[in-house]
Amino acid sequence: MPPKPQPVSTDPNTLKIARLNGQLEIFYSIQGEGKSAGIPSVFVRTSLCNLHCIWCDTDYTWNWEGTPFAHVNDANPEYRKFHKKTWMARCSVGEIAERVLAYPARNVVLTGGEPMMQQPALVALMHLLRQHDAAYRFEVETNGTLLPHSDFEAAIDQYNVSPKLANSNNPQRLREKAAVYRYFAQNPKAWFKFVVAQLKDLEEVLLLQERYAIASEKIWLMPEGHTRQALARRRRWLVEACKTHGLRYTDRLHVQIWGNQKGV
Ligand code: SF4
Repeated sequence: MPPKPQPVSTDPNTLKIARLNGQLEIFYSIQGEGKSAGIPSVFVRTSLCNLHCIWCDTDYTWNWEGTPFAHVNDANPEYRKFHKKTWMARCSVGEIAERVLAYPARNVVLTGGEPMMQQPALVALMHLLRQHDAAYRFEVETNGTLLPHSDFEAAIDQYNVSPKLANSNNPQRLREKAAVYRYFAQNPKAWFKFVVAQLKDLEEVLLLQERYAIASEKIWLMPEGHTRQALARRRRWLVEACKTHGLRYTDRLHVQIWGNQKGV
């Protein structure tokens, strides 16, 4: 029997969406990473996350004023935690669908934050868009700590599971959920993507692969880095590691093209 999903938002009508510099973060670009790299896609970035990675580059989805979470940018005297009401918008599913429909792509990437915290509303969004055009295809970017509900599982086409390692500064009990790892390891729609900065990250990935019996062809390794220079420093040895261990390599196309610019 599959494990029971954890409780998540039960509101099927409203989505909490990230607002970046005053704009809802729904934009048209190409998928820059992993199995679907290169596909023109509409991105819908939800707000809220159940993890708090110390190097997170979408910290405006969770690092709210008054919370105790640490971030690498704390070292920058100009860094401020985010005012929730400014950086998160509550939108009806219908409004989100209208914005997605305005773009020509039929591949939609549900990203975050952690989108699987808001499954009922995402299911409603997927159904609504498919009523307009059955060609819509949906992938979700998830940190691999939440199980899908059965209606979410039925609606989604692809899981891009990006579990967090020790370098994220999240406690192991929060970042490594055994039942969720096992679920996605066995799910033919799921593909794993690990961000690797150094050798000990690679060793951790290999341990996780063994612990949860994840097939090598389901694993992509991606260099850590939000600048072209950082990616260039890690690319070559990571490609060699992929060759050695039979894993797949993914670059970060959006960083190569746009640097660390957001919403493009
Ligand atoms: S899981 Fe993703 S969105 Fe959440 S804190 Fe980590 S990097 Fe950021």
